[in-house]
Amino acid sequence: MKAWVLENQASIEKRPLLLWEVSIPEPEEGEIRVKVHACGVCRTDIHIAEGDLLLRKSPLILGHQIVGVVEKVGKGVNEFKVGDRAGIAWLNFSCGNCKFCRSGRENLCPQAKFTGWNVDGGYAEYVKVSQDFAFHLWENLSLTETAPLMCAGIVSYRALRLTGIRRGDKLGLYGFGPAASYVLQVAKYLGIEIFIITRSEKNKNRARELGADWVGGYEDEAPTDDKELLKESKPPSLPPP
Ligand SMILES: [Zn+2]
Ligand SMILES: [Zn+2]
Repeated sequence: MKAWVLENQASIEKRPLLLWEVSIPEPEEGEIRVKVHACGVCRTDIHIAEGDLLLRKSPLILGHQIVGVVEKVGKGVNEFKVGDRAGIAWLNFSCGNCKFCRSGRENLCPQAKFTGWNVDGGYAEYVKVSQDFAFHLWENLSLTETAPLMCAGIVSYRALRLTGIRRGDKLGLYGFGPAASYVLQVAKYLGIEIFIITRSEKNKNRARELGADWVGGYEDEAPTDDKELLKESKPPSLPPP
Protein backbone atom coordinates (compact mmCIF):
# COMPACT_ATOMS: atom_id res chain seq x y z
CA MET A 1 0.00 0.00 0.00
CA LYS A 2 1.03 3.62 -0.31
CA ALA A 3 1.81 5.55 2.88
CA TRP A 4 3.34 8.86 3.86
CA VAL A 5 6.17 7.84 6.14
CA LEU A 6 8.29 9.81 8.59
CA GLU A 7 11.78 8.40 8.99
CA ASN A 8 13.73 11.42 10.22
CA GLN A 9 12.24 14.48 11.88
CA ALA A 10 12.80 17.79 10.11
CA SER A 11 11.07 21.12 9.61
CA ILE A 12 8.04 20.94 7.34
CA GLU A 13 9.83 23.07 4.72
CA LYS A 14 12.26 20.17 4.30
CA ARG A 15 9.36 17.80 3.54
CA PRO A 16 10.07 15.09 6.13
CA LEU A 17 7.21 12.83 4.94
CA LEU A 18 8.10 10.40 2.17
CA LEU A 19 5.67 8.50 -0.05
CA TRP A 20 6.63 4.86 0.39
CA GLU A 21 5.27 1.52 -0.68
CA VAL A 22 4.83 -0.52 2.53
CA SER A 23 3.08 -3.78 3.40
CA ILE A 24 -0.62 -3.76 4.26
CA PRO A 25 -1.06 -4.29 8.04
CA GLU A 26 -2.48 -7.69 9.00
CA PRO A 27 -5.11 -7.56 11.78
CA GLU A 28 -4.25 -9.81 14.72
CA GLU A 29 -6.65 -11.18 17.32
CA GLY A 30 -9.17 -8.53 18.34
CA GLU A 31 -8.01 -6.10 15.66
CA ILE A 32 -9.71 -4.64 12.61
CA ARG A 33 -8.19 -3.39 9.37
CA VAL A 34 -9.69 -0.16 8.07
CA LYS A 35 -9.51 1.13 4.52
CA VAL A 36 -8.76 4.80 5.13
CA HIS A 37 -11.16 7.20 3.41
CA ALA A 38 -9.93 10.34 5.13
CA CYS A 39 -7.40 11.32 7.75
CA GLY A 40 -7.31 14.82 9.21
CA VAL A 41 -4.08 16.71 9.74
CA CYS A 42 -3.45 17.78 13.33
CA ARG A 43 -0.99 20.23 14.83
CA THR A 44 0.32 17.24 16.82
CA ASP A 45 1.36 15.59 13.55
CA ILE A 46 3.47 18.63 12.80
CA HIS A 47 4.99 18.51 16.32
CA ILE A 48 5.98 14.88 15.70
CA ALA A 49 7.24 15.50 12.16
CA GLU A 50 9.35 18.49 13.19
CA GLY A 51 10.76 16.98 16.39
CA ASP A 52 8.91 18.92 19.11
CA LEU A 53 7.82 15.49 20.32
CA LEU A 54 10.37 12.67 20.43
CA LEU A 55 9.98 9.98 17.81
CA ARG A 56 8.68 6.77 19.38
CA LYS A 57 9.19 4.58 16.30
CA SER A 58 10.83 4.96 12.92
CA PRO A 59 9.75 4.70 10.21
CA LEU A 60 6.37 5.99 11.36
CA ILE A 61 3.07 6.64 9.60
CA LEU A 62 1.48 9.75 11.14
CA GLY A 63 -2.20 10.63 11.43
CA HIS A 64 -4.82 10.10 14.15
CA GLN A 65 -8.04 11.56 12.73
CA ILE A 66 -8.89 8.49 10.75
CA VAL A 67 -12.20 7.45 9.23
CA GLY A 68 -12.87 4.61 6.87
CA VAL A 69 -14.52 1.28 6.36
CA VAL A 70 -13.64 -2.05 7.98
CA GLU A 71 -12.07 -4.21 5.33
CA LYS A 72 -10.86 -7.22 7.35
CA VAL A 73 -11.35 -8.43 10.92
CA GLY A 74 -9.00 -10.51 13.08
CA LYS A 75 -9.97 -13.51 15.19
CA GLY A 76 -12.41 -12.82 18.02
CA VAL A 77 -13.66 -9.49 16.67
CA ASN A 78 -17.32 -9.06 17.60
CA GLU A 79 -17.77 -5.29 17.70
CA PHE A 80 -17.23 -4.67 13.98
CA LYS A 81 -17.88 -6.50 10.76
CA VAL A 82 -16.54 -6.00 7.26
CA GLY A 83 -18.25 -2.99 5.66
CA ASP A 84 -18.85 -1.07 8.92
CA ARG A 85 -17.70 2.51 9.14
CA ALA A 86 -14.98 2.96 11.75
CA GLY A 87 -13.09 5.88 13.25
CA ILE A 88 -9.67 5.80 14.90
CA ALA A 89 -8.43 8.54 17.23
CA TRP A 90 -5.27 9.47 19.14
CA LEU A 91 -5.66 6.99 22.01
CA ASN A 92 -4.71 3.63 20.54
CA PHE A 93 -4.19 1.45 23.63
CA SER A 94 -4.40 1.58 27.40
CA CYS A 95 -3.82 -1.16 30.00
CA GLY A 96 -7.38 -1.31 31.33
CA ASN A 97 -6.21 -2.05 34.90
CA CYS A 98 -4.49 1.01 36.36
CA LYS A 99 -6.26 3.62 38.50
CA PHE A 100 -6.60 5.92 35.47
CA CYS A 101 -8.10 3.26 33.21
CA ARG A 102 -10.51 2.19 35.94
CA SER A 103 -11.72 5.74 36.47
CA GLY A 104 -12.43 6.62 32.82
CA ARG A 105 -9.15 8.52 32.36
CA GLU A 106 -7.40 6.10 30.01
CA ASN A 107 -5.58 8.98 28.35
CA LEU A 108 -3.42 9.23 31.51
CA CYS A 109 -2.57 5.49 31.58
CA PRO A 110 1.22 5.10 31.96
CA GLN A 111 1.11 2.34 29.33
CA ALA A 112 -1.04 4.30 26.87
CA LYS A 113 -0.11 4.18 23.19
CA PHE A 114 -1.07 6.75 20.61
CA THR A 115 -2.06 6.44 16.96
CA GLY A 116 0.50 7.93 14.61
CA TRP A 117 3.12 8.16 17.37
CA ASN A 118 3.69 4.77 19.07
CA VAL A 119 1.95 2.89 16.29
CA ASP A 120 1.30 3.58 12.62
CA GLY A 121 -1.55 5.96 11.82
CA GLY A 122 -3.74 7.00 8.96
CA TYR A 123 -1.62 8.74 6.32
CA ALA A 124 -1.90 5.47 4.44
CA GLU A 125 -4.33 3.37 2.47
CA TYR A 126 -4.94 0.98 5.37
CA VAL A 127 -4.50 1.01 9.12
CA LYS A 128 -5.18 -1.55 11.83
CA VAL A 129 -6.39 -1.06 15.38
CA SER A 130 -7.83 -3.02 18.29
CA GLN A 131 -11.64 -3.09 18.10
CA ASP A 132 -11.62 -1.67 21.67
CA PHE A 133 -10.12 1.59 20.40
CA ALA A 134 -12.21 2.08 17.27
CA PHE A 135 -15.43 4.07 17.04
CA HIS A 136 -18.62 3.24 15.24
CA LEU A 137 -19.54 6.18 13.03
CA TRP A 138 -22.78 7.83 12.06
CA GLU A 139 -23.97 6.95 8.57
CA ASN A 140 -25.51 10.37 7.93
CA LEU A 141 -22.36 12.46 8.10
CA SER A 142 -19.76 12.31 5.34
CA LEU A 143 -16.52 10.56 6.24
CA THR A 144 -14.49 13.65 5.39
CA GLU A 145 -16.60 15.77 7.74
CA THR A 146 -16.26 13.13 10.45
CA ALA A 147 -12.44 12.92 10.40
CA PRO A 148 -11.69 16.05 12.50
CA LEU A 149 -14.21 14.87 15.10
CA MET A 150 -11.72 12.10 15.89
CA CYS A 151 -9.38 14.65 17.49
CA ALA A 152 -10.65 18.22 17.81
CA GLY A 153 -14.19 16.87 18.28
CA ILE A 154 -13.22 14.47 21.08
CA VAL A 155 -10.94 17.00 22.81
CA SER A 156 -13.56 19.73 22.76
CA TYR A 157 -16.46 17.55 23.90
CA ARG A 158 -14.39 16.15 26.76
CA ALA A 159 -13.21 19.59 27.85
CA LEU A 160 -16.76 20.95 27.77
CA ARG A 161 -18.06 17.99 29.78
CA LEU A 162 -15.30 18.37 32.39
CA THR A 163 -16.36 21.95 33.09
CA GLY A 164 -19.70 20.65 34.42
CA ILE A 165 -21.36 23.53 32.59
CA ARG A 166 -25.16 23.69 32.32
CA ARG A 167 -27.78 25.40 30.23
CA GLY A 168 -27.89 29.11 30.95
CA ASP A 169 -24.28 29.22 32.16
CA LYS A 170 -21.68 31.41 30.50
CA LEU A 171 -18.54 30.13 28.85
CA GLY A 172 -15.51 32.12 27.72
CA LEU A 173 -12.96 30.70 25.32
CA TYR A 174 -9.52 32.25 24.93
CA GLY A 175 -8.27 31.48 21.44
CA PHE A 176 -10.38 30.08 18.64
CA GLY A 177 -8.86 27.07 16.88
CA PRO A 178 -10.55 23.90 15.60
CA ALA A 179 -11.35 22.48 19.07
CA ALA A 180 -12.91 25.79 20.17
CA SER A 181 -15.06 25.86 17.04
CA TYR A 182 -16.57 22.52 18.10
CA VAL A 183 -16.99 23.68 21.72
CA LEU A 184 -18.90 26.70 20.42
CA GLN A 185 -21.29 24.61 18.34
CA VAL A 186 -22.02 22.10 21.11
CA ALA A 187 -22.33 24.87 23.72
CA LYS A 188 -24.80 26.75 21.53
CA TYR A 189 -26.86 23.60 21.09
CA LEU A 190 -26.96 23.20 24.87
CA GLY A 191 -28.10 26.77 25.44
CA ILE A 192 -24.84 28.05 26.93
CA GLU A 193 -23.88 31.68 26.42
CA ILE A 194 -20.53 31.77 24.76
CA PHE A 195 -17.87 34.49 24.68
CA ILE A 196 -14.97 34.17 22.27
CA ILE A 197 -11.76 36.08 22.84
CA THR A 198 -9.36 35.80 19.94
CA ARG A 199 -6.90 37.96 18.01
CA SER A 200 -7.33 37.30 14.32
CA GLU A 201 -10.18 38.85 12.34
CA LYS A 202 -10.60 35.60 10.43
CA ASN A 203 -11.24 33.68 13.65
CA LYS A 204 -13.52 36.41 14.97
CA ASN A 205 -15.64 36.20 11.83
CA ARG A 206 -15.75 32.42 12.01
CA ALA A 207 -16.90 32.60 15.65
CA ARG A 208 -19.66 35.06 14.68
CA GLU A 209 -20.76 32.81 11.82
CA LEU A 210 -21.05 29.90 14.25
CA GLY A 211 -23.27 31.93 16.55
CA ALA A 212 -21.05 33.17 19.39
CA ASP A 213 -22.96 35.49 21.74
CA TRP A 214 -20.00 37.84 22.00
CA VAL A 215 -16.72 38.06 20.10
CA GLY A 216 -13.81 40.30 20.97
CA GLY A 217 -10.08 40.67 21.33
CA TYR A 218 -7.86 40.32 24.39
CA GLU A 219 -7.95 44.06 24.94
CA ASP A 220 -11.76 44.33 24.83
CA GLU A 221 -13.99 44.29 27.86
CA ALA A 222 -16.59 41.53 27.75
CA PRO A 223 -20.24 42.57 28.24
CA THR A 224 -21.74 41.95 31.67
CA ASP A 225 -25.42 42.73 31.13
CA ASP A 226 -27.27 39.41 31.44
CA LYS A 227 -30.38 40.71 29.65
CA GLU A 228 -28.37 41.22 26.49
CA LEU A 229 -27.63 37.53 26.43
CA LEU A 230 -31.00 36.10 27.39
CA LYS A 231 -31.87 32.99 25.40
CA GLU A 232 -35.22 31.34 24.88
CA SER A 233 -34.36 27.91 23.50
CA LYS A 234 -34.48 24.88 25.80
CA PRO A 235 -32.13 22.26 24.40
CA PRO A 236 -31.24 19.12 26.40
CA SER A 237 -28.41 19.05 28.92
CA LEU A 238 -25.21 17.09 28.32
CA PRO A 239 -25.70 13.32 28.31
CA PRO A 240 -23.86 11.40 31.06
CA PRO A 241 -20.33 10.24 30.22
ZN1 LIG B 1 -4.84 15.63 17.06
ZN1 LIG C 1 -4.01 1.93 32.41
